[in-house]
Amino acid sequence: MAGSMARWFASGTLSVMTLVPAARPFSASVLRKRLVSAAAEAERRGLDALLITPSPDFAYLLGYRPPALERLTCLVVPASAVPRLVVPRLEAPLARHQLDELASDVEVIAWDETDDPFKVVQSLLRTDASRVGVQDQMWARFALRFGAVLDPIELVAAGPTMGALRSVKTPDEVTRLRAAAAADDRAMLAITAERVSGRTEAEVSRRVLELLIEAGHDTADFAIVASGPNAASPHHEPGSRVIEPGDAIVLDIGGTLDGYWSDTTRTAFVGEPPADFVAMYEVLREAQEAACDAVQPGVAAHDVDRAARAIIEDAGYGEQFIHRTGHGIGLELHEEPYVVAGNRAPLQPGHAFSVEPGLYLEARWGARIEDILICTPDGGERLNTTDRRLYLVD
Ligand code: ZN
Ligand code: ZN
Ligand code: ZN
Repeated sequence: MAGSMARWFASGTLSVMTLVPAARPFSASVLRKRLVSAAAEAERRGLDALLITPSPDFAYLLGYRPPALERLTCLVVPASAVPRLVVPRLEAPLARHQLDELASDVEVIAWDETDDPFKVVQSLLRTDASRVGVQDQMWARFALRFGAVLDPIELVAAGPTMGALRSVKTPDEVTRLRAAAAADDRAMLAITAERVSGRTEAEVSRRVLELLIEAGHDTADFAIVASGPNAASPHHEPGSRVIEPGDAIVLDIGGTLDGYWSDTTRTAFVGEPPADFVAMYEVLREAQEAACDAVQPGVAAHDVDRAARAIIEDAGYGEQFIHRTGHGIGLELHEEPYVVAGNRAPLQPGHAFSVEPGLYLEARWGARIEDILICTPDGGERLNTTDRRLYLVD
């Protein structure tokens, strides 16, 4: 699901930022490799440099997350020179502290309160630079200033460059995703064992957030509890509706552990489900399984989506599957690769993504099943291992 992806960026104040626990750091050697790969990938794509402001990309390359504030912090990764980190003077101590061993690889350049940091960045680019990649979530005020100051250099999105790197997970990243998924599963099993009828969606959602933390997450970020007719809304905001017998409930829950996201969905039913719901759920289960089975290195993401969609369409539910089959996951909840019609890029070992078909019948009910998978040399491996059955609850 989407939702609180803005957590890293929108908090605005240091006091809020400090509520986010620090993830276990990556070693300097891992970060060094990532910096070298980013420079090489930029060069391969005809970019003279990458300009990376505080964001998941920044955290990926430098291993820490400085506050995104009005004073410019910008990592400059030239295609063929040492990376440099431009920071406001008052944040230079933080940067050196966080870089730790990496400080010998990344030159920290502090700008003073009356300097123009955009000119500082400009001075670090080659004079013949013609194309530069800017971080996708860079604040518009920064991107617009770069556009003016760096003119006539062409600014393009750094997203494809960074996505190519970040979408292929290293074993250590897979370990983190696996731990996050296991914690998510524990929370899912706990909530589906509780009585939910008579409670509001909002109450159950708050309970899920508690369970996510109890299960080991560092942060509990979302808990969609969509009951009865609300289950037909894939990104429903849990509210004051009281859950009652005869409701289908879509539970889509997740958070972060060591910086990496979890995201799983199971569907519950309060009491005895009617035959037509059971029939629809069986189609969904078959479709989700077919998509998981379709995962292989070299198979296009498009074809994984197709595997789920074909079964759903054949059963006559095509109109009710109103979203793509899945999204990549890692330092962000939604990232590359997207499992969507038209994405012909072949899956690679190390790709991590959700497989989450859903069926939604407006004003009546809905169902979704979501697992996170890793593409391995032998096929897809599910990180979420809870049963994919319909959970019958009180
Ligand atoms: Zn989800
Ligand atoms: Zn998802
Ligand atoms: Zn979603």
